[in-house]
Amino acid sequence: MIQIKINGENILVEDGTPLIKAAEAAGFKVPSLCYNDELGHFTSCMLCLVKDGENGRLFPSCSVPATEGMSIITDDQEIREARLTGLELLLSEHVGDCQAPCQVTCPAHMDIPQMNRLIAAGKFKEALRVVKKDIALPSVLGRICPAPCEGACHRGTVDSSVSICLLKRFVGDENDLHPFDALPLNGKKVAIIGAGPAGLAAAFYIQLNGYQTVLYDKELAPGGLLRTNIDPEVLPVAVLDRDISAILSTGVLFIGDTAIDKSLFQQISTQFDAVVIATGAIVDELRDWGFLTHAKGIDAERNSYETSMKGVFAIGNTLRFSRMSVRPIGQGKEVAWSVKQYLSGEEPRGEPRLFNSRFGRLFQDEISEYLKESVLSGKVISNDIISKGYTQEEAMLEAKRCLHCDCRDIENCKLRDLSGKYNANQRRYAGNVRKLMTKHFAHSIVYEPLKCIKCGICVRLTSKYQEKYGFSYIGRGFDVQIGVPFNETLEAGLAETAEKVAQACPTGALTVKD
Ligand code: SF4
Ligand code: SF4
Ligand code: SF4
Repeated sequence: MIQIKINGENILVEDGTPLIKAAEAAGFKVPSLCYNDELGHFTSCMLCLVKDGENGRLFPSCSVPATEGMSIITDDQEIREARLTGLELLLSEHVGDCQAPCQVTCPAHMDIPQMNRLIAAGKFKEALRVVKKDIALPSVLGRICPAPCEGACHRGTVDSSVSICLLKRFVGDENDLHPFDALPLNGKKVAIIGAGPAGLAAAFYIQLNGYQTVLYDKELAPGGLLRTNIDPEVLPVAVLDRDISAILSTGVLFIGDTAIDKSLFQQISTQFDAVVIATGAIVDELRDWGFLTHAKGIDAERNSYETSMKGVFAIGNTLRFSRMSVRPIGQGKEVAWSVKQYLSGEEPRGEPRLFNSRFGRLFQDEISEYLKESVLSGKVISNDIISKGYTQEEAMLEAKRCLHCDCRDIENCKLRDLSGKYNANQRRYAGNVRKLMTKHFAHSIVYEPLKCIKCGICVRLTSKYQEKYGFSYIGRGFDVQIGVPFNETLEAGLAETAEKVAQACPTGALTVKD
C-alpha cells in the first residue's frame, strides 16, 4: 500500500490504482463518461480531470496511477469549469430530445409518450397512474385544456398532432380515479386556502406525502372557477365532482363556506405546520395579511413558491393570472415538493429541474426514421368524440400514432445526469446546422448515432468479446462516427453482444428497445 492525499485527506491505496478509482474508494466521486470498470480507461471524454495539489496542473484521473506521496484535488471552481467546457463540447453535436417536446411544453410536464404507450397497449389503469403523477384533475383538463403540448407535437410535421388532450380525457373517464394510496399520516398538518384547481392539486399531492391536508374555501363546494366560470356543456358538473372526489378520497379534509380574513389566516398559520395560499388574485387583501406583493399578485420565490413568510407558499392566480388551468394544476404538484422539503427541515427548492437536451423541430428527412416506431394512419376523429370522447379502440388507434420522441435512456443517461449537475448549456458551442437523426434497429436494441459521444466503450467491448465485425471508428476528424465496419449491418456487428453493449453505453445512443 502507498499513501496519497486526496482533498487534504491521507488515503492508503494499492500502488498503481487509477486515481479515479482511488478517489471513488475514498468517497470522492469523480465524473467520467468513457471510463468502464471492465475495460479501464480510454481518456476521451476528459470529464475526470483533477488537479495536482503541488503544481496546480489539471490531468485526467482515469489514466494516471496513484504513486507514493501524490496529492490531488478532485473538485474546485477551475476543475468544474474545465469539466463544464468538456460537457458543453460533447453536447454541441449531440442531437436528441431527453423528454419529448410535448412533455417539455406541457406546463405540468406530464409524461405524455409513456401515457400513449400504455394506452396503445390497452393498459388503461397504468396510463392513469402516469397521468395522475402530474395532473390531479385529468377528466377536467381533458375537456378544458387548450393543449399547448399538441402545438409542440412532432407528429404535426408528419400529418397532424397526436390528440393528447382527448387521450388524457379518455384515461380519466375510463378508469376508477383512485390509483394511488396516500402515505400514512406523519402528524404534520398543512392548510390550503382556496379550493380552485391550484388548491385542489396541491391538496392531492401534499396529502399523498402523508401530511393531513385541510382545504378551506369561501364557497360551499370545492372547484373555484372550474365550477362557476365554465359552461357545464363543456365541463359537466358530474365530471368535475368525480375528479374532486378522487382527490378528497385520499384523506384531504374540505372546509367550505369559510371566508378567510386576516385574523383567521393568522390563526391558521399558528395551527398548521405549513400553509399554501391558492386564493386567486386578491392582492390588496394579501398585502394587508402581511405579504410582499407586486401589481399582479403575491411575491414568491420562482421555483419553491415560498412567500415572504417562512413556511407559507403561494400558487395559481394568487401569483399571476393565467387562463390555462393546467398551469395552476402543475404548480399544485410542484408546491408539494417545496412543502415536503420545508417540513423535512430542508431549504425549499421545489421540484428538481433536470437537464433536457433538445434539438428543435423535426426535418422532413427525419420523418421516416420516426415513423419506424409508429403507424401511418391519420388522426382518429369521429362525430361523437367531443361529446363522448374516445372509445377504447379509438384511443388505442390514436395513441399508436405517437412517435415516441422521448429518449429511452432518460433514467440512466450519464450525459444527462452530469449536464444537469454542471448546469451545462447545450447551445454554447453549437453550430447553426444540425445533422439528421437516424434510428437503427437490430436484435433487441436501438442505435441512434447522433446521441453517441464517441466514448469507445462499444468498440472496446465488441473487440474484447470477439464479435466478428463489432463496432469501430469510421471516418476521420470531426466527421468520425461509430458504426459497424465494412458496410456490414448492425445485426451482423452486434451478433453476440447487443444487449451487453447497450447496457454499457453511457448515453441513449445504444439502448435496449423495450
Ligand atoms: S442520450 Fe441522454 S442526453 Fe441525449 S437525449 Fe438521451 S437522455 Fe438526453
Ligand atoms: S409524437 Fe408523441 S412523443 Fe412525440 S411530441 Fe407527439 S405526443 Fe409527444
Ligand atoms: S455508441 Fe458506443 S461510442 Fe457511442 S456513446 Fe455509446 S458506447 Fe460510447
